[in-house]
Amino acid sequence: MAEHRIILKDVDVPNIQDIGVYTSRGGYKAAEKALKTMTPDEVIKEVQDSGLAGRGGAWFSTGTKWSFMPKEPKVPSYLCVNADESEPGTFKDRQLIEQNPHQLVEGTIIAAYAIRARAAYIYVRGEMAEGMRGLDRAIAQAYAKGYIGKNLFGKGYDLDLYTHPGAGAYICGEETGLMQSLEGKRAEPRVKPPFPAQRGIFGCPTTVNNVQTLSYVPHIIANGAAWFKGIGNPKYPGTFIFCISGHVKNPGLFEMELGTATMRQLIYDYAGGLRDGHELKAVIPGGASTLPMTPDQIDIVMSPDQFLLPGRGPFKGMFGTGGIIVMDETACVVDMLLNLMQFFAHESCGQCTPCREGAPWIRDVVKRIEHGQGKLGDIDLLLNVADNVAGLLSPRYSTICLFGPAFSYPTQGTILAFREEFEEHIRQGRCPIQKDKGIG
Ligand code: SF4
Repeated sequence: MAEHRIILKDVDVPNIQDIGVYTSRGGYKAAEKALKTMTPDEVIKEVQDSGLAGRGGAWFSTGTKWSFMPKEPKVPSYLCVNADESEPGTFKDRQLIEQNPHQLVEGTIIAAYAIRARAAYIYVRGEMAEGMRGLDRAIAQAYAKGYIGKNLFGKGYDLDLYTHPGAGAYICGEETGLMQSLEGKRAEPRVKPPFPAQRGIFGCPTTVNNVQTLSYVPHIIANGAAWFKGIGNPKYPGTFIFCISGHVKNPGLFEMELGTATMRQLIYDYAGGLRDGHELKAVIPGGASTLPMTPDQIDIVMSPDQFLLPGRGPFKGMFGTGGIIVMDETACVVDMLLNLMQFFAHESCGQCTPCREGAPWIRDVVKRIEHGQGKLGDIDLLLNVADNVAGLLSPRYSTICLFGPAFSYPTQGTILAFREEFEEHIRQGRCPIQKDKGIG
């Protein structure tokens, strides 16, 4: 199956970042169609009928999410675009923003109209300085053309659109943490309910959508719900961008119809396979918080509804963000887990004890195993600490937000899949892997 490019289709068009080039390729026609010929409810229904589901990891129907917003708002409604992409191994939103910012701006205008928002904020990860500058340029051009501002397309609808830079905290990508940060507070996630549609930024109804999700919206409005519904997997129609990195010959972004490729095909047919003379050892399938896979599991079909790891139960929702990290035999999985846990321990917001204390505990125990000071019993200790945060085999977790499971699951999953390698570190009192951290 070849790549099917919808939202990456124009990324190589010279100067597509300029509104003149974007409009010459049909840009802003979908926004014009939506605002001139459709009511907000008709836009919501079109997106609902298309089957578009949120690409941020939850896979909830985008149109249904929009339908939760008040039809006759008594206070302002808001749209927040989550561009705080921070998951290690995931780098597609950055590309979408840098390469085709008007596509996102147009999707944002249509979504804001559908939910009757008076303002929209694109919350951009602080490190994405180039993307931020590009978005600001695109927004200024759209204002100048009258696509944002007062009385859009003569419809009597006003919209203001702003970018808002984050300061580089991973937890700002959690929707309630993002809203807190946008209000100028510490990015501390809060318990839901109330959900953002009931009480979001500034206490007003808010929808939070992901960059990739909104990038599809102009295409759905332009081509119709049936077109999108007919692409790929009937349960999760459309395409999805996989970002493949690590020990492969051809790392990069691949936009694929969901359910049409296995992990093996993604690694060998699209990413060029492993470096010559090397063997596959492990794959992180969807960002740092997903369970690492072993080579015998890579015939799995890459779609959220079919993503069941053999022998490890139906871990729906562990499909993740499409950030695939491939490792060959020169990678040490204990070192890999240490790397991830250094990240997670640093990024905890600190509100919940199991997360604030658990992540550094896991990091420190993994560190001593990797550095040859592991003790018998450390592996079970790790499993115990991780299980107290969020049990892999049960649906419970003891934290306010999903950051707890995000580090607890891969800890448990890495040990379940590679326990022998942890034991070997402890037995030998050193890391037994001949590491080669060169990539490519
Ligand atoms: Fe903060 Fe961690 Fe609790 Fe989430 S789970 S609210 S990141 S302490």
